[in-house]
Amino acid sequence: MTRPPLPAGFLQRIHGQLDAVGAVALARALAAAPAAGLRANPRHGPPEALAARLGWRASAVPWCHEGVVLEGPPGARGEAGRHPWHDGGAYYLQDPSAMGVVPLLDPHPGEAILDLAAAPGGKATHVEGRLRGRGVVWAHDATPARADALVSNLERWGATNAVVSQGDPRRLLGLVGRFDRVLVDAPCSGEGMFRKSDAARVRWSPERVRACSLMQATLLDHAADLVRPGGVLVYATCTFAPEEDEGAVAALLARRPDLELVDLDARGLRPVGTLPGDGPVGAGCVRWWPHRAVGDGHFAARLRRGEADATAVRDPGARGRQGVAGGRHGDGRPTPAAGPEAAAWRSFAEAVLGADPLPGHALLADDGHLLAVPPEALALAAPWRRAGVALGRVAVGRRGQRRFTPHHALSRVLPARGAAAARVDLELGDPRVAAFLRGEAIAVDALEGWGLVRAEGVPLGWVKASRGEANNHYPRGLRRDPARPPADADDEVA
Ligand code: SAM
Repeated sequence: MTRPPLPAGFLQRIHGQLDAVGAVALARALAAAPAAGLRANPRHGPPEALAARLGWRASAVPWCHEGVVLEGPPGARGEAGRHPWHDGGAYYLQDPSAMGVVPLLDPHPGEAILDLAAAPGGKATHVEGRLRGRGVVWAHDATPARADALVSNLERWGATNAVVSQGDPRRLLGLVGRFDRVLVDAPCSGEGMFRKSDAARVRWSPERVRACSLMQATLLDHAADLVRPGGVLVYATCTFAPEEDEGAVAALLARRPDLELVDLDARGLRPVGTLPGDGPVGAGCVRWWPHRAVGDGHFAARLRRGEADATAVRDPGARGRQGVAGGRHGDGRPTPAAGPEAAAWRSFAEAVLGADPLPGHALLADDGHLLAVPPEALALAAPWRRAGVALGRVAVGRRGQRRFTPHHALSRVLPARGAAAARVDLELGDPRVAAFLRGEAIAVDALEGWGLVRAEGVPLGWVKASRGEANNHYPRGLRRDPARPPADADDEVA
């Protein structure tokens, strides 16, 4: 099938933006097939080892130690999207240039990180992996359906230290000045998606570039308020339009004297290149050009907020507000789990898991549902959709006994190897792996009651077994449909 051509207005602009050789090379690169990037979940080991265990040839992504590019036939990408370990969250399929943004943000364990435009979760899962179980990534998105995808991808990833919220960023007003690092991976005109997405080619127009830059300015103003004095703000797009990139950064700096650019060269952080002749702003910016580096193309800038506290002027009283994390959609608030609910969870954890997998997390109850919330999230008071790990539901039986049903998300946070006491360990080649992912009951030998299904160490989900047969508790929305096309990449155009 013929693809829509690159937009004429875009081609005209890049001929003004780059020299003749560069513009031709960029247009040619955008006609090439996308690279198959794979970012490993640190819970499942380094990416080279992961690719080797799966029998895929891979080369390192120089700016991201969790990333590799799969080599070999074009089919390798589809295979990676269909593999049971993809369903198990052992890796995330992500464009290699998109993997450069989180290393620039440089999150550290124990920190509070905000990802203000987070769906479907490429960067949020990357941040979560780098927190190593300490701290919190607060992942926000404006759109309800995309926020659902974000919850689902964070669950697949086995995130233990994430909170998801949705709506206008003004909903986060209570968190002004509270984040150590804030990422704005902004909605943009998506020129870097021209390889993957025909829709991005068709949608592009100079008006869209202008509309995006207005939206980006609003988001950046919110982000600048939300980062703490002395904290870091990273701005990223997957477009090449200077108005949305260096121009957006220059305009932000003009509006916000409390922000300054970090010189990336001086910190050895600029892996690829920038725009020729882009002036002083360029020192704090990096561009991954598809004709100069592997990947579809990305832009990022790193800024630092001065230590002087400007929030007092913008939102008096916002700093210092504390409380239990806000509650679903701002209505009912979760409370610390009561004795009987906590006891039902503990007896499940002891009998089925061997031990509480999240002993440092707070146990909260929300209308019969138990959540394990990272302590760092407890001080952040704003409405959320999901906080921490959904452990399961406690129901009261006819005789008043409490029954615990585990949530799918809990299966994903269990250690990849070792400790789940009750489990069904399958070889990757065992036909029961595919049957489980299709939602079918599977035969088991020595399991009665709840158990975790794993494919060579990677947790897939729950079954409940009785007399040799295990009922499938893999969520319906995730079950494999043979007619479903394989995931090409977990990232997609916004
Ligand atoms: N960071 C994501 C990732 O790595 O998977 C990709 C983000 S995508 C480029 C931009 C996101 O911004 C979209 O999911 C879109 O729904 C969201 N968005 C658009 N307008 C927004 C707003 N005003 N506030 C927050 N998010 C917004």
